[in-house]
Amino acid sequence: MKKNKYKLLAVMLVAIVALAACSNGTNETSTTEVTTELNTIPTTETTEAPTEPEIEKINVVSTLFPQYDFARTIGGAYVDVTLVLPPGVESHSYEPTPKEVIGIMESDLFLYTNIAMEPWAEELIKNIDVSKTQVVDLSSEIDLLENDHDHAHEEDEDDHEEGAYDPHYWTTPQNAMIMAREIENALSTLKPEYADVFKSNVAALISELESLDEEIINAVEKMSSKTIISGGHFAFGYFAHAYGLEHVSPYIGFSPDAEPTPQKIASLIKTIEASKTKAIFYEELINPKVANVLAEETGAKMLLLHGAHNLSKEELESGITYIQIMYGNLERLKEGLGYNE
Ligand SMILES: [Zn+2]
Repeated sequence: MKKNKYKLLAVMLVAIVALAACSNGTNETSTTEVTTELNTIPTTETTEAPTEPEIEKINVVSTLFPQYDFARTIGGAYVDVTLVLPPGVESHSYEPTPKEVIGIMESDLFLYTNIAMEPWAEELIKNIDVSKTQVVDLSSEIDLLENDHDHAHEEDEDDHEEGAYDPHYWTTPQNAMIMAREIENALSTLKPEYADVFKSNVAALISELESLDEEIINAVEKMSSKTIISGGHFAFGYFAHAYGLEHVSPYIGFSPDAEPTPQKIASLIKTIEASKTKAIFYEELINPKVANVLAEETGAKMLLLHGAHNLSKEELESGITYIQIMYGNLERLKEGLGYNE
């Protein structure tokens, strides 16, 4: 942890120096680039009908996929949203590069999950010029669940200040609605002239999230097992809590970096055998080696429970949304837990 902090400080220092250079000496090159770009597009041949004024888009930077997806849906044509995570990258261990730090510091709106998910944001936001960049901690209106793994503290050597809460609140549609409203609010503050558009887009998104919520409630009622056996670090604590499901995972805490002990795996195999579980759920973008072991030992089937932290390159290119990911999860939960029509 300490080592990571120094590394991040170094990255931020590089970024801040580069930013200072931008606003002093090298300023000219960047402004000319911008002006030529602006000039070449809208002002060529303006003899006929007046061209539409170029929309000045809100430059949004997002740490995880859910808020990236919601911001682009709510902002529509008036936003330019960047996801900090490169495609296919595991998010918990990710730290932004100097270039990405600059991107965040130069953005109009920075949307992050919380300090538990992005511990690097804590230092970074202290250095952001809040008169230029609006910073939104999307967990601020959410009822965060405490990390319910009893032994997390005694077995973890880190100072672990980010370990008190489960960071994965975005996995329930109810919390996604709260996030969407926060994002709409931030966008409307930045561009009040488009507030009506944001309002109507967020209303459509929330109505889809409400349908998703109802589908989950109805499906869970008809599931024969209520226990999700996960071979991963389990991002669905909020989901399980919201819909009355149990979950079992060999991991302590919420970081996929922490290797489960052989004893944990052995005891989980016993649990699985006793419960006649048909499926082990694994998570996206992480080698499912623990899930593999569990599946091989017990003969259970492996199914994906997509936590939507980040997407693979193919998923990103396909344009898949948070809502589609969650419907996919629901189908696999029905398959894995048993579903009676
Ligand atoms: Zn996670």
